[in-house]
Amino acid sequence: MQPLLTRRDELIAQLAKGQTYDIAIVGGGATGLGVALDAAARGFRVVLVESHDFAKGTSSRATKLVHGGVRYLAQGNISLVREALHERTTLLHNAPHLAQPLPFIMPSYQWWETPFYGIGLKMYDALAGRAGLGHTEFLNREQTLRGLPTARTQGLRGGVKYWDGQFNDARLALALARSAASRGALLLNYCRAADLLHAQGKVTGLLCEDTVTGQQYPIHAACVVNAAGVWVDELRQKDGAAHGGDGRRPTRPMVAPSQGVHIVVDREFLGGDVALMVPKTADGRVLFAVPWLGKVILGTTDTPREDLAREPLPFKEEVDFILNESARYLQKAPTRADVKSVWVGLRPLVKPQDDDGDGTKGISREHTVRVSRSGLVTVTGGKWTTYRAMAEDVLERCAERNLLEKRPKGVTTQLKLIGADIDAARIRSICLPPGLHSYGDEQEWVAGLPGAQTPLCDGLSEAMVRFAARHEYAVTVEDVLARRSRLLFLDAQLAGSLAQRVGDILRQETGLDPHTEDFEALARHYLHLPQ
Ligand SMILES: Cc1cc2nc3c(=O)[nH]c(=O)nc-3n(C[C@H](O)[C@H](O)[C@H](O)COP(=O)(O)OP(=O)(O)OC[C@H]3O[C@@H](n4cnc5c(N)ncnc54)[C@H](O)[C@@H]3O)c2cc1C
Repeated sequence: MQPLLTRRDELIAQLAKGQTYDIAIVGGGATGLGVALDAAARGFRVVLVESHDFAKGTSSRATKLVHGGVRYLAQGNISLVREALHERTTLLHNAPHLAQPLPFIMPSYQWWETPFYGIGLKMYDALAGRAGLGHTEFLNREQTLRGLPTARTQGLRGGVKYWDGQFNDARLALALARSAASRGALLLNYCRAADLLHAQGKVTGLLCEDTVTGQQYPIHAACVVNAAGVWVDELRQKDGAAHGGDGRRPTRPMVAPSQGVHIVVDREFLGGDVALMVPKTADGRVLFAVPWLGKVILGTTDTPREDLAREPLPFKEEVDFILNESARYLQKAPTRADVKSVWVGLRPLVKPQDDDGDGTKGISREHTVRVSRSGLVTVTGGKWTTYRAMAEDVLERCAERNLLEKRPKGVTTQLKLIGADIDAARIRSICLPPGLHSYGDEQEWVAGLPGAQTPLCDGLSEAMVRFAARHEYAVTVEDVLARRSRLLFLDAQLAGSLAQRVGDILRQETGLDPHTEDFEALARHYLHLPQ
């Protein structure tokens, strides 16, 4: 299928028509995009606005695991794990070019670790049932080193191998956006929901601002979904102020953000295509070393934060923690000089409270859907892996509250995402450096654009930048180098050095300011390690 064009002036012209939508969604991360696709696939008229770029928030900063959550199993949260395992299979099936199985090994240095964690992981297998990706295996020392050739050998007894998945989060977000657009949804990046529209105490839409031009547009919709991640409270408070202007108490925040840091180093630190999992670090956390797009991701942390910075900086203790823990498990300890990129994501943890109407906690899940008195539907929490099930929950709640017509769910279970219509033989591992294969069945379209033979660096051609501008909503250098290509996350210095060339191509394509200098500053930010 020919890729849709994403010319900004045409998208804005469509928005300016002032059509009334069935559902308007705020936030173009995993959650909002999942809702947009499900709603569009059920035939609703859908609009989604994203204040920055799709997946600019938490959804490009995951550890890249499509997982059931071994941790939740340890907490006894069986239904959550079972659902996530089920969703894992669905995602791997619907986007095989972007989400794939990955083996993990937990190396054991104590005699009890292999049986203790092995039994837990056998339960993980049992819960997965037919959705399992491979059997958990008990490994001896030699087998462990075959999978993890760079694991510390001193005191190594063996290990446990199990299976989960990994994915390219920002490109998956784009695939969701474009799949929704191909079903008639209107999606706009760089459009901020500045306010809500109310009539007779009910939310009737929103006022959005094109942040490129400053122009404002009202959007009228029967149902408004606030999927703004850690930023959901901004709209909730506006909603509360609008319908609670009679002196009622202000809307209390729902989200308590917690940040997670990832450090990227060269592939040699891990050696193979197997991830290393440390189930319990010195201070009781989980640590991963994941092979991803030709590099290794080390992380993550879990540190409460007060502010909601768009580009939070890591704390010194977090960087120290990741490097020190990695050093305990790897033969060659990565140092600060080895860091290619460091990035921080904010988890939208939901506070255990209910202060606005008939809120309910997400049914047996870690995400929460709340509907305010005025009918504003807020969804946050959860994880990338379960975005599809979350979207179904949201639409269920909207129907229960008569905000949307009830239409059967399950329409996205077998829905192949853009790029997924590709023979298994042509699919390349996500462990490998990025390249044309990242585009799945759209490779020929990219290869047919001007500049296909002009590489900017390994895995990124001039044609890919043009494709990003023409078909993937890219406006700025950051959109291209952070989320269409993942270079900022893999090698921030190299990404910074390409900013001018990418900016020139983008300007030719879109006529808009690609914010080249802003990106150069951001690339320095992704190399900054607090001392
Ligand atoms: C460190 C870390 C590691 C993780 N690892 C994994 C993992 O390996 N696997 C997994 O399954 N999950 C993982 N997760 C969880 C997962 O990444 C999140 O659950 C998911 O990305 C949240 O998506 P979201 O759409 O709710 O939020 P976001 O991605 O933050 O999206 C919200 C969007 O709303 C936009 N927005 C905000 N205000 C407005 C406004 N006024 N108008 C318009 N738009 C607005 C923002 O710009 C943002 O793009 C991880 C999370 C963290 C923090």
